[in-house]
Amino acid sequence: MPELPEVEMFKRYLDATSLHQRIADVDVRNAYILKDVTARELARGLKGRRFESSRRHGKHLFVRADDKLWLRLHFGMTGSLEYFKANGQTPRHTRVLFIFTNHHRLAFDDQRQFGQLELLKDVDEFLKKRALGPDALNLELGGFRKMLRKHRGAVKSILMNQQLIAGIGNIYADEILFRARMHPATEISRLGDKALTKLFRATRYILKKAIVAKADVNQLPKSRLLPHRRKGGKCPRCGRKLSTAKIGGRTAWFCAQCQKQRS
Ligand SMILES: [Zn+2]
Repeated sequence: MPELPEVEMFKRYLDATSLHQRIADVDVRNAYILKDVTARELARGLKGRRFESSRRHGKHLFVRADDKLWLRLHFGMTGSLEYFKANGQTPRHTRVLFIFTNHHRLAFDDQRQFGQLELLKDVDEFLKKRALGPDALNLELGGFRKMLRKHRGAVKSILMNQQLIAGIGNIYADEILFRARMHPATEISRLGDKALTKLFRATRYILKKAIVAKADVNQLPKSRLLPHRRKGGKCPRCGRKLSTAKIGGRTAWFCAQCQKQRS
């Protein structure tokens, strides 16, 4: 499921391929992923314009077509982008196709269809309406500690709460907690300044390194949790079998030895 590092990769991909090309047409193959916009409105809004720049906030990607017109992309569980030549093979689960005048196309491919495309007038207004927290890579230590001190609950649920910090999902929350050596169910109010600082540093480190690795699990060092995060997987630190637990409705993977629960 695309989290901050994956969406950052999509941003860079779109920036490198699809900016400044005139949009000849928008072909909606499946309107299910359109949010508050019809296929006709989407095509009418974008036809003749160009994507000029983009901006990412958490797991959302916003592409500017005009001062008052932005396309919002959310990748849901299986969303991705593919830019290809007009005579090339259209990706199998293409839901929306942006057709450029340069004989290239950009496909929004999404097998499971949890993704969303929407037209917006104002990005900041959208962020406010959704009450999204600051982007996980835009947080300062002071703000991070202040915000976390105001909340109660399992540290993993807090990290994944988009209204507090935008961009972290199930996978990277586990990776961050593994690095910080914290049990995912740790009550946030039990963490003092030192522990919160450690958590903050782990958050930045893991997200930044994931971007450097192009959000590709095969490029991550074996000392990370992700390459071992599966049934029978062993802790890369101590060799003990990894544990799972349901926290905040999602399956957490962790090492019960290296990430002891504080009591
Ligand atoms: Zn361990």
